Amino acid sequence: MTGMKLEVTTENVDQTMQFANVLARRLQGNEIIELIGDVGAGKTTFVKGLVAGLDSISDVTSPTFAISNIYDDGLLPVYHFDFYRLDNNDEMIKHELAETIEHDNAVIVLEWAQAMRNVLDRDSIKITIQAPTENQRRFSVEIPQAYNYIGTSE
Ligand code: ADP
Ligand code: MG
Repeated sequence: MTGMKLEVTTENVDQTMQFANVLARRLQGNEIIELIGDVGAGKTTFVKGLVAGLDSISDVTSPTFAISNIYDDGLLPVYHFDFYRLDNNDEMIKHELAETIEHDNAVIVLEWAQAMRNVLDRDSIKITIQAPTENQRRFSVEIPQAYNYIGTSE
């Protein structure tokens, strides 16, 4: 099974927003995107760029307390989950996620989802974020074969 790997380094928040914007433009719906990285890595910043890239004017905030936010005024509905504060065995939240990923066309974006992998019914795009310096962020994007359209150049 061949997928793709893409590495992008940004130098500031604007470039991260720009990168997320470009990626957003390639989404078709029904994608699951997992963001992996420490607190402050830039996961939520990336989601801001993604949502803006879908022409939504929603204000993206960290859903750490709400668990999930929905941005549905753009080209595709974005469901943004952050499981940071979650007990790994919270069956209600697992159920909510399982129901959400069935929504047609939705883009599902997950922070701290390692414990949720068994709920996912398909491959996810994994974006690992590292911070080599205070303002640099390195994005390693793993795109499974099912999403190869994201990496092609048309
Ligand atoms: P997370 O959701 O991973 O905890 P946030 O997106 O909330 O991270 O925060 C990222 C922090 O890193 C913000 O304070 C942002 O200003 C800062 N930052 C510095 N450089 C960058 C960059 N190149 N890309 C994204 N965020 C950056
Ligand atoms: Mg966050």
